[in-house]
Amino acid sequence: MKKLNIAIIGGGIGGLTAALGLARSGFRPTVYEQAPALGEVGAGLSVTPNAVKGLVFLGLGKALDQAASEPLQQIVRHHQTNQIMVRIDRNPCRDQYGAPYLQIHRADMHRILVDAFTALVPDGIRLNAHIAAMTADPSGVALTLADQSTAKADLVIGADGLRSSVRQWCFGGDAARYTGHVAYRGLIPRADLKDLIMDEGSCAWAGPGRVFLRYPLRHGALINCVMLGRSEHWAEETWSAKADVGELQSTLKGWPEEVQRLINAIPSERCFKWGLFDRPPLAAIVSDRLALIGDAAHPMLPFFAQGAASAIEDAVVLARCMEASDDLADALQRYQRARLERVTFMQIQSSAGGERLQMDDTERLKKEPLKNEDTLGIFHYDPANVPI
Ligand SMILES: Cc1cc2nc3c(=O)[nH]c(=O)nc-3n(C[C@H](O)[C@H](O)[C@H](O)COP(=O)(O)OP(=O)(O)OC[C@H]3O[C@@H](n4cnc5c(N)ncnc54)[C@H](O)[C@@H]3O)c2cc1C
Repeated sequence: MKKLNIAIIGGGIGGLTAALGLARSGFRPTVYEQAPALGEVGAGLSVTPNAVKGLVFLGLGKALDQAASEPLQQIVRHHQTNQIMVRIDRNPCRDQYGAPYLQIHRADMHRILVDAFTALVPDGIRLNAHIAAMTADPSGVALTLADQSTAKADLVIGADGLRSSVRQWCFGGDAARYTGHVAYRGLIPRADLKDLIMDEGSCAWAGPGRVFLRYPLRHGALINCVMLGRSEHWAEETWSAKADVGELQSTLKGWPEEVQRLINAIPSERCFKWGLFDRPPLAAIVSDRLALIGDAAHPMLPFFAQGAASAIEDAVVLARCMEASDDLADALQRYQRARLERVTFMQIQSSAGGERLQMDDTERLKKEPLKNEDTLGIFHYDPANVPI
């Protein structure tokens, strides 16, 4: 098994976590990443206790402690009155779930994974390596890169994100459906907010069909802002489409002063927008010589902030299955058995979280029992110890 030639397609959070997990178990995978460089991409990621347990298992506890922020509370306020409707205390997370709730800049999470993986496999990442085609036969998988060069693999791990080509090649067409929601994100240097006094931790404001939230990154040096809202206007499903801050200003006109101050401070070159698309859960996430992980396996709406966390869980469990098996088919079946039910649940519940956001009566948030990733029990999961 350890001699298997493993190709990981996609060097995002899932692909790199899998690469690190496999390398720690003695495999030497190659990561094929289409981007020409590993750079400062994305903004805030929530790494919830379920995922932190996996990263600690991979030896990244100290690096995370240094780079991540730990919001000790999460508040939801009313979009008109600014009154607090929900307050979630995150202090007990370490005791309750065995790991903290963290928020981190995507670039920092990425760098931590790259450093840890390349310390074990220095030539393990190929950049500028867009996989354009893949064919499998009983003897192995043939990969064709965009520059027409080719590579062979015994196992392909499809970690190529939301609009995964690997998923399409192996499981058929992309049944993406526009949900009627768009997302905006913006990153503000804290120094640009001068005298603005903010509650500790993260804060969201909820209104009919919209939620705006902000949380600190890099120990408060940056404030990450996200708006999720209903929109009839379709937007592209991409992480890099620039948005007009003016759209946010007019959409959230009349919302509390803090929201206005935050929106007005978003640098125009750091404001992005994308459409949210729903896809039905897959019936299988493995086939002969293939495993899907992360967004490629279970593209998830962001309402429960479990995209990165579930990719990390997949990667840790897959690496454990590979280490525990003497046979590839057995390892892949173990991985699917361990993961399919959970990721299907997370995918469905994340969509339901979006449906709840459609509410026109914001006060319902105060009256109804809270239904979120925490109360649904998602944080109890431990990818390092779950039976495989
Ligand atoms: C540029 C970028 C910025 C992001 N920013 C945020 C953010 O600010 N906040 C947030 O919550 N989430 C963000 N995400 C998404 C978040 O990282 C993922 O949802 C989550 O971590 C799941 O990770 P993943 O590894 O499954 O997919 P991703 O992290 O999306 O990684 C997929 C990787 O596959 C590569 N790839 C795709 N197709 C091919 C191919 N054919 N050949 C080779 N490589 C390929 C992509 O370039 C990418 O690096 C971002 C993702 C990306 C790619």
